Amino acid sequence: MTTVLTPASPLTAADRCDRCGAQAYLRVVLASGGELLFCAHHGRKFEPELKKIAVEIQDETGRLSTTNASADDDEH
Ligand SMILES: [Zn+2]
Repeated sequence: MTTVLTPASPLTAADRCDRCGAQAYLRVVLASGGELLFCAHHGRKFEPELKKIAVEIQDETGRLSTTNASADDDEH
């Protein structure tokens, strides 16, 4: 079995959204080698743009629905 990609380290509570400072659930790896972090809210908001510039999007927003943590979600 060959591992092609090195798994990115999981996002932690120390990883913060670049836009609002909330806990990050998405890591966006850019073609330039840079990284952007977004909370679930901003990850969704910028997803169409991010998909144009990202070479990889690590999406951990699924943890929001499984951990029952208080999400900073504005969809109530
Ligand atoms: Zn945010």
